[in-house]
Amino acid sequence: MIGGGYVGLVSAACFAKFGNDVAVVEIDPDRLAALREGRIPIYEPGLDGLVADTMRAGRLSFGADISAAVQGAEAIFIAVGTPPRNGDGHADLTYVHEAARQIARAMTDYAVIVTKSTVPVGTSRRIAEIVRDTRPDLDFDVASNPEFLREGNAIGDFMKPDRVIVGLDEDAPDGGARARAVLGAVYRPLYLIEAPVLFMKLETAELTKYASNSFLAMKISFINEMADLCERVGANVHDLARGMGLDGRIGRKFLHPGPGYGGSCFPKDTLALTRIAQEAGAPTRLIEATVGVNDARKVAMAGRIVAASGGSVRGRRIAVLGLTFKPETDDMREAASIPILVRLAEQGAEIRAFDPVGMPAARPHLPQAVTYCDSALDAATDADTLVVLTEWTEFRALAPGRLAAAMRGRVVVDLRNIFDPVAMQEAGFAYHSVGRP
Ligand code: NAD
Repeated sequence: MIGGGYVGLVSAACFAKFGNDVAVVEIDPDRLAALREGRIPIYEPGLDGLVADTMRAGRLSFGADISAAVQGAEAIFIAVGTPPRNGDGHADLTYVHEAARQIARAMTDYAVIVTKSTVPVGTSRRIAEIVRDTRPDLDFDVASNPEFLREGNAIGDFMKPDRVIVGLDEDAPDGGARARAVLGAVYRPLYLIEAPVLFMKLETAELTKYASNSFLAMKISFINEMADLCERVGANVHDLARGMGLDGRIGRKFLHPGPGYGGSCFPKDTLALTRIAQEAGAPTRLIEATVGVNDARKVAMAGRIVAASGGSVRGRRIAVLGLTFKPETDDMREAASIPILVRLAEQGAEIRAFDPVGMPAARPHLPQAVTYCDSALDAATDADTLVVLTEWTEFRALAPGRLAAAMRGRVVVDLRNIFDPVAMQEAGFAYHSVGRP
């Protein structure tokens, strides 16, 4: 497994749990040192136990030496980052291409080189070219195996996936049969739970990942627009979402309104798909609109907080609950909190924030002026306005009366709809939520 980040580490530990021998190669010295000492450098529920178990069983190891790791490997997974390239929204493939070169130099026997990172159409073929150019003597196949796990529920998603997608090179002399056999064996334990393993062309597998993430992002932008509309016409977006979602053709998931989607995947993958599609001459207008709606939403949410605070936040003390892009992760990449808090800080707000696990990761992303607090109530102390940005479970249990006693103001802007409007009103709050009266 090349790369020991969110995807590489979870995949490696789960593959080891399936009974495979897995060697993880990680170039970041801090991450590697932590992993070797049995510390998990990211926050992901259950991962520490799984890593400890599989290390103890001798099936999971970590190192910096790629030659040692690929020695005898039947499958070599690339799980390095593919962040947006500066400026144009394309996926930056520098890390993927470099990993391919390193793999080529290190390989000795036949192996399948599998792309787990989310990569544009054509990348797996490009990896094959790089490997051939670097080592014309090597016997290998390429495959695409995009990952669909969600941070915060990554192990469950990996162990019980809705489906596994495997792209094979139909142009290989054996039509991809050997690669199919290797990957079939790696995922064999999933056959027991009847998880569908879908084999398809390389290009289709690569595109399926972008199409899936873009569709989910589109659902979120859709419900966010419906939330705005509900507010204007006096409707309730939760009843609307339930009314829509119980229709099996629509589905209930991803119909929760909020401050706009963030995270390490949706923003970059939607943007990358629009670029791929534009270049292929088949623009995806719906996804272009999805991106536009989402960008505008984050700006609008900052405006909503200012408006709720009486038209100005200058000198006002704002308590912020939640910073990460969603609960149960420490990932701050593209979190909605970033553009929102940057704007509030620019406009002179005094920001006191609390997040159960995300504060160390948040610091580099957020304005200097943010003060980090020890608890939700600490953040709320003497606040004029309280803002909910991430729906961590512990925030749901906050009693409105205790919040009211801690705060000096009476404004709450709940961008995740975690509080009961009636209870908030009874506690004397001017309570603003999303898409409901
Ligand atoms: P990450 O940044 O957490 O992890 C990538 C790791 O790879 C880093 O630790 C980095 O140091 C390491 N690395 C880079 N080049 C290396 C090399 N040559 N050798 C060894 N290690 C190297 O990224 P991530 O969130 O795990 O995402 C990885 C890929 O998976 C991306 O393409 C992403 O789009 C995709 N993906 C992510 C998620 C998610 O929820 N995070 C879900 C599905 C797919």
